[in-house]
Amino acid sequence: FAALAAAQSRPFGGAPPGYERYVADATATGAEEEYDYIVVGGGAAGCPLAATLAGPGGGRVLLLERGGAPAEFPALATAGGFVRTLALADPSPDSDAPAQAFSSEDGVPNVRARVLGGGTAINAGFYSRAHPGWFHGHGEGAEVPDWDMRLVNSSYEWVEQELTFQPEVHGWQAAVRAALLEANVTPWNGFTVEHVTGTKIGATTFDASGRRHSAADLLAFARPGRLHVAVRAAVTRVIINPIDPAARRGRSRPAVAAVGVVYQDRLFQLHHALLRPGGEVILSAGTLGSPQLLLLSGVGPANDLTSLGIPVSVDAPDVGKHMFDNPRNGISIIPSVPIDHSLIQVVGIPSANGTASYLEAASYIVPVSPMLRPAGPFISPTSPLYVTMATIMEKVPGPLSEGSLWLSSPNPVETPSVRFNYFSRPEDLAQCVVGVRRVAQVLQSRTMDIFRSSVGSASQGRRGHARRDFRIVGATLPLDWSTNNTSVADFCRRTVATLWHYHGGCVVGRVVDKDFRVMGTQSLRVVDGSTFSVTPGTNPQATVMMMGRYMGLKMIAERHSRRQVNTSSYNELEE
Ligand code: FAD
Repeated sequence: FAALAAAQSRPFGGAPPGYERYVADATATGAEEEYDYIVVGGGAAGCPLAATLAGPGGGRVLLLERGGAPAEFPALATAGGFVRTLALADPSPDSDAPAQAFSSEDGVPNVRARVLGGGTAINAGFYSRAHPGWFHGHGEGAEVPDWDMRLVNSSYEWVEQELTFQPEVHGWQAAVRAALLEANVTPWNGFTVEHVTGTKIGATTFDASGRRHSAADLLAFARPGRLHVAVRAAVTRVIINPIDPAARRGRSRPAVAAVGVVYQDRLFQLHHALLRPGGEVILSAGTLGSPQLLLLSGVGPANDLTSLGIPVSVDAPDVGKHMFDNPRNGISIIPSVPIDHSLIQVVGIPSANGTASYLEAASYIVPVSPMLRPAGPFISPTSPLYVTMATIMEKVPGPLSEGSLWLSSPNPVETPSVRFNYFSRPEDLAQCVVGVRRVAQVLQSRTMDIFRSSVGSASQGRRGHARRDFRIVGATLPLDWSTNNTSVADFCRRTVATLWHYHGGCVVGRVVDKDFRVMGTQSLRVVDGSTFSVTPGTNPQATVMMMGRYMGLKMIAERHSRRQVNTSSYNELEE
């Protein structure tokens, strides 16, 4: 692996070329073509995976992404566009918006990416590795891949070299850093991508000029001529065929194999992409997309599939089960002093092993709706009005509460239904209560006093000073937050939101094996966040991208070992 990884550590041909030359609209692709690897979903995992599979030692790769290319959407290019992108999120399957809105059956609004780069093209850019313990499993008997930690580390480094930067921390983020330390979230760890107990600054995918770098940038590492990226290519199903009994060695081997995929372009034309002998289809369509595609392809709970009229290829009861989302709860204020826009840069990790909520913060400028605006004597009701808001939030790690995903219809472009069952496990609620108290302690720190505004008249305050308090936006903390568990638990339930770290649906040991192969099938894997039963570290994108690179290198090595080539030599891997 070391030789192969080293050989792939620079884009082919020296200076980093753009990846755009590999990208074409799906309408321009052939009706039926053959590839060694077909990667479905150009997101956090799919891009590094496709780039690696199309690199040295790899083969002919097709990457299919249902959304457009990031350059088409200027708001994605900067941190300032984050709020705008989310504000314009559109639930319609026909919309072109790079963020697709959906609501879980719990009633919590959410979004999913619909653009090349996936979540990394629309997210808050915070980058932090998983806790080393994450690689050893979660809970007794839980199955985990046999991670090769040397390859894990070099895969993280490969991603970091291209996409990550040390942020300049000031304003709200600097205040939160000081306040976390005052609230005893210690020690101070400075800037690090490692997941360690205490307060730290993590990396960001926004560079010093504020420009976003997404997983799509990694596609530049592919060798010219090997990678074909089709955008606005919505995969509707994996083609799964029975294996010829004569070719099937042993009754315990899978009886069916993936042989290709069907995808639809923006003009509703269907295309077929087929596998060459020894090839593989890899689903990297994300936590909603990958289980949805397995179900649409007849891999899932037989009864559910039959009731929707989908022919069953493999009765796999756990597809779409074990869906998790980390509950987020927080407090937002309108600060009394001007602050800059900042996405997540500083995090508080009270305990690195995931037994206590993580704390994160952001500040942003939001337009106020004309409907809510008092048209004062000097303000035109049509002139733009913006308000600065700052948030401190806590996220329950894990969590243990789980839900499921199911098809509301056999229409492949419709978002599936999902329920996360937030706080159905008391352990999660207990963690939220402790986490919300920590948010309150951070807000009570002396550092935060500067953001309080005067309320009431001077005579109302102590010693003739006007009382100063936070101007809270939305729900306020219960007055008895420090003593009453029930009222804080009620606050957790009432204000639960998402941090968009949902995961599960194709969990390792239930749907895929330790090598991410879909159990009961051949030539089909899932490589993305849907395979996780626990989110890695404070924020997942680092580990999802690492996983794409890691699995790409593993798969190339496997393919060559099947051909009995010595994988330790990069030269022998070259064709
Ligand atoms: P994705 O990155 O979502 O990729 C899946 C891709 O598959 C998408 O591009 C989708 O369009 C495509 N697809 C789906 N179905 C099909 C189909 N049928 N055919 C073709 N293509 C399909 N994480 C962090 O670490 N730090 C952060 O600051 C952060 N902030 C976030 C903010 C937001 C608003 C969001 C949404 C996420 C954030 N995350 C953050 C989470 C992180 O981005 C995701 O965990 C990560 O992107 C998941 O990677 P994935 O490869 O599993 O899926």
